[in-house]
Amino acid sequence: LLHFGIKTRHHFMQQEIELTILPEKIADQVHIMQTGAAQLRIAPSRVKGLKIRKRSIDARGKQVVFRIRVIFYIDEIPIPEVLHHEYANVAGAQPVIIIGAGPAGLFAALRCLENKMRPIIIERGKNVQERRRDLAALNKEGVVNPDSNYCFGEGGAGTYSDGKLYTRSNKRGDVQRVLQLLVAHGATEDILVDARPHIGTNKLPHIIQAIRHTILNQGGEIHFNSRVVDIVAQFGRVKGVKLASGEHITADHVILATGHSARDMFELFHRKHWLAEPKPFALGVRIEHPQHIIDQAQYHCAVRSEHLPPAYYSLVEQVDGRGVFSFCMCPGGIIAPCATDKGEIVVNGWSPSKRNNPYANSGTVVQVNLEDVPQAVRYPFALLDFQHEVEERAYVVGGGKLVAPAQRMVDFVQGKLSDTLPINSYKPGTKSALLSEVLPSFVHDALRKALPVFGQKMKGYYTNEAILVGVESRTSSPIRIPRDKDTLQHPQVKGLYPCGEGAGYAGGIVSAAIDGMNCVDRIIFQ
Ligand code: FAD
Repeated sequence: LLHFGIKTRHHFMQQEIELTILPEKIADQVHIMQTGAAQLRIAPSRVKGLKIRKRSIDARGKQVVFRIRVIFYIDEIPIPEVLHHEYANVAGAQPVIIIGAGPAGLFAALRCLENKMRPIIIERGKNVQERRRDLAALNKEGVVNPDSNYCFGEGGAGTYSDGKLYTRSNKRGDVQRVLQLLVAHGATEDILVDARPHIGTNKLPHIIQAIRHTILNQGGEIHFNSRVVDIVAQFGRVKGVKLASGEHITADHVILATGHSARDMFELFHRKHWLAEPKPFALGVRIEHPQHIIDQAQYHCAVRSEHLPPAYYSLVEQVDGRGVFSFCMCPGGIIAPCATDKGEIVVNGWSPSKRNNPYANSGTVVQVNLEDVPQAVRYPFALLDFQHEVEERAYVVGGGKLVAPAQRMVDFVQGKLSDTLPINSYKPGTKSALLSEVLPSFVHDALRKALPVFGQKMKGYYTNEAILVGVESRTSSPIRIPRDKDTLQHPQVKGLYPCGEGAGYAGGIVSAAIDGMNCVDRIIFQ
């Protein structure tokens, strides 16, 4: 059995209080202890231990401060409590096929181990180490391997990301459980405490690798370089899958966690006449500013204190009844080429754990509704085609090799071609272009109206020092694969569990992981 110790618990005489701490004192335990003792009106010598439970930055006032919630142990020494986390060996147990080793697939596999089922993960891409070489080719030569890229491979789209771990809704399930499992596999305990936890591209692959070891050590299977080309079903019941190699793998339960970029999987559903529905998504550009502009705006200072992390922002505006919003903001980040096939451009962002690049990037996208693509009424894949056409246009306008069309912010709003582009982080290169030639007109117009308004909300934001890089098109899946709300199975295929972001049930690392675990929980009750 594997045991992970990941939680400390208090015993008696404990008080939880909120403290306000200056940035330069946030790492000073003695200061925190003395401040807490003063607030509790007790002698500091009575404090035998403390545990920070929550930590957030409050930049609303002139003085930026940390707000922390701390448990103080008074007169009693805290006793560490180990949360036992037990995985039995599952070799020979009932198999569950999991298609895709993204967060949904990996956390589904961990849940299988907890419940004595044998996960068999089938992943089209390579393991994290080998995947790195393909990412280098993407960045240096503009060459896309359709099975190994920023979206496909071990860890899925979340591996070479910023690793932000917050989710908009806690209703989806047990967020803390996901965070604890990440800590058990090597993430720092800070993620259990920070209001905006993140891991970083440099650290995520080690954690993914540790999860792989847990799965393999406990008798699970992981098949890399193995693309699923068919899901085999008979009389409305799933029987297993067929791989591109021709090999068949059988199981009574298949979790489909292939992510939002596996268009071939959506096409498979179309060919098999299995239900799939169009779903609203969002589309736009990635915007990059020099990080110091964002720091100045958010921290109201000329130069960011060394005790504060690079600043973050989140902006939203309704333009003519349509949402325009920032998405997946990466302080100290890099814009990444995230295409999964030849002849298309897709951008996204990542950052290392220290977020120490001089750029701040964020997806800035416009809501795309079903009514925007009238064919969606008759043809469920109309939004997928619409998304793809924009990505192909970006490729053509960029001129090939993943060079992305780009425009300075004020030039974009004024409809002017930029004479020059700012130095930026997108490695395959950027080409000055009119983004009106790439973006659908309603997306273009909504962005043009929203950006100056964002500038009013955040000083310094609206500037020609910022660059818009096209296109941010894979914010979420434009398709939903339906499932029964109680059993989570596809309505036409028993034993098939559409799961994670690709099927339309998650929008990020944590929510995908939770959805993976939820699907396994339903298998238990079948
Ligand atoms: P995916 O992670 O997409 O995994 C699907 C897996 O299925 C892939 O590994 C793929 O190779 C595999 N697959 C596909 N088709 C097949 C097939 N036919 N056969 C076998 N295997 C197949 N989210 C956050 O919450 N925070 C962030 O900071 C963040 N940053 C991001 C940065 C980048 C650059 C990108 C691209 C995404 C980022 N995201 C972030 C989004 C996040 O990564 C996704 O929401 C999440 O990974 C979705 O998980 P998933 O398991 O549903 O799908």
